[in-house]
Amino acid sequence: MKIIDRLREDSIHISFEVFPPKTDEGFDKVIATVDAMAGLNPAFISVTYGAGGGTSKNTARIASHIKDDLHLLSLAHLTCASSTKEEVRRVIEDLKEHGIENILALRGDIPEGVRFPVEDRFRYACELVQEIRKHGDFCIGAACYPEGHVENEHKEDDIRYLKEKVDSGVDFLTTQMFFDNDIHYNFLYRIREAGIMVPVLPGIMPITSASQMKRSQELSGTVFPRRFLAILDRFGSSPAAMKQAGIAYATDQIIDLLANGVKNIHIYTMNKPDVAAAIMSNLSEIIKV
Ligand code: FAD
Repeated sequence: MKIIDRLREDSIHISFEVFPPKTDEGFDKVIATVDAMAGLNPAFISVTYGAGGGTSKNTARIASHIKDDLHLLSLAHLTCASSTKEEVRRVIEDLKEHGIENILALRGDIPEGVRFPVEDRFRYACELVQEIRKHGDFCIGAACYPEGHVENEHKEDDIRYLKEKVDSGVDFLTTQMFFDNDIHYNFLYRIREAGIMVPVLPGIMPITSASQMKRSQELSGTVFPRRFLAILDRFGSSPAAMKQAGIAYATDQIIDLLANGVKNIHIYTMNKPDVAAAIMSNLSEIIKV
């Protein structure tokens, strides 16, 4: 089944995300993580893709396990900046052979020392979207950035390029993490005005430690609101308290989104089934309404 068909159903959908192991040794542990998450009945589970290509085969294997053994929808991420067009084509064919119908098409971060454009590499995610379309009837998701992508100085440019990307064949969008829902509502307003009408899944990252917050900030350039900084200030040095507060903060963001009519939400669960379970338990009655 295609994710876009699930998102069109008139009910609440909460999806999760896992990342593959860096080496084959960690594979069984990730499978155990995925199995634990499956019990929480997510709308789908997405599997990230190592930009260096090192974990590409594990992305397909884990996405297949989700689909074939757990009978859940899976979404395989795919990046293109670190690979040649031929390598990317082979991965798409491999996903097709695994029967994977849903791909999140990403450029990936530019590898160090590489200056684009590079002959024989896709330059932007929109080119990857067009390539995937040539290989079959996939449901294609893509990334978007409520606070703007770090490489782009002007948000207007970002939205213009996002429109081009969506028009190249994107079925739905997932946002970069954000910690102030007003930023998301404002972004939604601006992209709808620009004519981008596909479903947008807000991406919620539960921050459960001070070090995770630092990493998230470096990765996304997101702005942490004062309310979050106060939590970090007060509880950051106590791992158990920070974890509880981080789960509560993410739950609160999700409740606000649901209360404002958002139906599809993606949680960056990372490989933490306990965090996913705690949030789903907090929402147990809310998602029935
Ligand atoms: P693009 O859409 O190509 O955009 C990249 C930049 O180019 C933007 O600044 C955009 O405005 C600009 N741009 C686009 N088109 C044009 C144009 N025609 N002319 C000029 N400028 C243009 N990374 C991984 O390595 N693995 C993952 O699994 C992964 N999963 C992710 C999931 C989500 C939901 C998100 C939000 C990000 C994820 N990333 C992942 C990170 C992502 O790869 C990076 O943010 C990357 O820098 C941009 O990828 P993109 O697909 O958004 O690129």
